[in-house]
Amino acid sequence: MRTIRNWDRTLTWNPRAVHAPRDAAEVSAIVKRVAGRSGRVKAVGSSLSWSDVADIPDEVIVGDNLNQVVVDPDGMRATIGSGAKLRDVNERLAEHGLSFENFGSITMQSAGGYTGTGSHGTGGRTPILSSFIEALELVDGQGRIHHLDASTEPELFSAARVSLGALGVITNITFRLVEAFDLEERLEIVDFDRALADLDRYVDGNDYCKFWWLPYSDQIQVYQFNKTTKPRTPITLQERFDASGMSGLTFAGLLGFSRLRPRATNRLLPGVERLAFRDRVRVDRSDRIIKYAGTIPWHQETEYAIPRDRAAEALDRMRRLVLTATGYKVNFTQEVRFVAGDDIPMSPAHKRDSCYLGAYVASLKWAPRYFQDFEALMEEYEGRPHWGKSFDRKPDQLRTLYPRYDEFNSLRQAQDPQGIFRNRFIDRVFPRR
Ligand SMILES: Cc1cc2nc3c(=O)[nH]c(=O)nc-3n(C[C@H](O)[C@H](O)[C@H](O)COP(=O)(O)OP(=O)(O)OC[C@H]3O[C@@H](n4cnc5c(N)ncnc54)[C@H](O)[C@@H]3O)c2cc1C
Repeated sequence: MRTIRNWDRTLTWNPRAVHAPRDAAEVSAIVKRVAGRSGRVKAVGSSLSWSDVADIPDEVIVGDNLNQVVVDPDGMRATIGSGAKLRDVNERLAEHGLSFENFGSITMQSAGGYTGTGSHGTGGRTPILSSFIEALELVDGQGRIHHLDASTEPELFSAARVSLGALGVITNITFRLVEAFDLEERLEIVDFDRALADLDRYVDGNDYCKFWWLPYSDQIQVYQFNKTTKPRTPITLQERFDASGMSGLTFAGLLGFSRLRPRATNRLLPGVERLAFRDRVRVDRSDRIIKYAGTIPWHQETEYAIPRDRAAEALDRMRRLVLTATGYKVNFTQEVRFVAGDDIPMSPAHKRDSCYLGAYVASLKWAPRYFQDFEALMEEYEGRPHWGKSFDRKPDQLRTLYPRYDEFNSLRQAQDPQGIFRNRFIDRVFPRR
């Protein structure tokens, strides 16, 4: 039996059967068998998600054998198996002088899982990776194989770019690519109020930009990334320390201490900031420089996409929430990222340029209370939850937040009439009426 756990090990599954198909025909045969006995089967990627989006109710399809990367350098595109891990894909693309245009903080995700939840990086002018999908191969709940693109079944294609695992099993994805590029990263430590006042300048004035805030400090770490042809910088001692996992371990130790001595948190995090973060400049390959360099310490996340033009105000409110909270401490980096709007029905950035506010905390005891307060705040900003992170939004709220919720749900029912892809997530987001 194979036991599968999510990244923070709060969810565990022991699937009745684990399938590792090699292509759409094998997926189709599995789906037909499961449907024939009225069972349920879920396709998963790396099973990292904090939310129950990749919950496995019965049997599972894993992407271990769906990991091919076929690059078409002349067409500037690549067809990637849904199970391929982004870290491997990035290397293959770089060998061909190609690259994605938007990068998240880690690269352990599968192509199917990353796009399936609408995962994103940062860059006010660049939309989420799902926007770069040109074609998809998908097996529906009756075992039918669909070859989707903007002209073949365009509605299903459009929705399947952020599929929530609800429309079928995706076997491969064709992405539009750009020429490989390097980025210069500029890290500046800026007063919180100054960063708020200059937020638009930072986002509009850089190719990519993100903010980190270590609570209880009155400073923000502003990361600015711009395309460059300057030589790559040699690896620094700090980067070696990060890559060795030591900085992650040290931070994890401090987080453990803050759980034991909550009151120390207010002094601990500003201390970490003073020690670990300084103004710096470095140059490296785009995907390598944006991703988090070290081992990420264990923690919990929720994240909401809000209209970008309300970002500064919402971040200020988030600071006040954290500083005045009673009954819990917020002992982890808070993250602020930006993406351009898109036209994907279930994308959190649907039809609006968005700021993603990430509320993170390293405590199972504090997370529920912090997330409840944070989600209430996000309601005031028409915040849409990241599907792969913790959230508690009811179907009626989601219908209001996502104007194409009903359309997506109708497509879902048509693709999966027997409900073989239903799981806890589908049951709560699209309950049976
Ligand atoms: C440490 C950490 C850092 C993160 N950083 C970021 C970040 O920077 N930006 C961001 O936006 N998110 C981030 N995330 C969230 C992460 O990107 C999502 O949770 C993502 O879905 C995880 O990918 P996965 O391969 O593990 O997907 P899974 O959790 O396995 O699956 C996610 C969804 O995709 C579906 N799916 C997977 N494969 C298929 C398939 N073949 N066919 C159909 N459906 C499929 C599943 O059914 C499920 O609904 C982070 C998560 C962690 C744990």
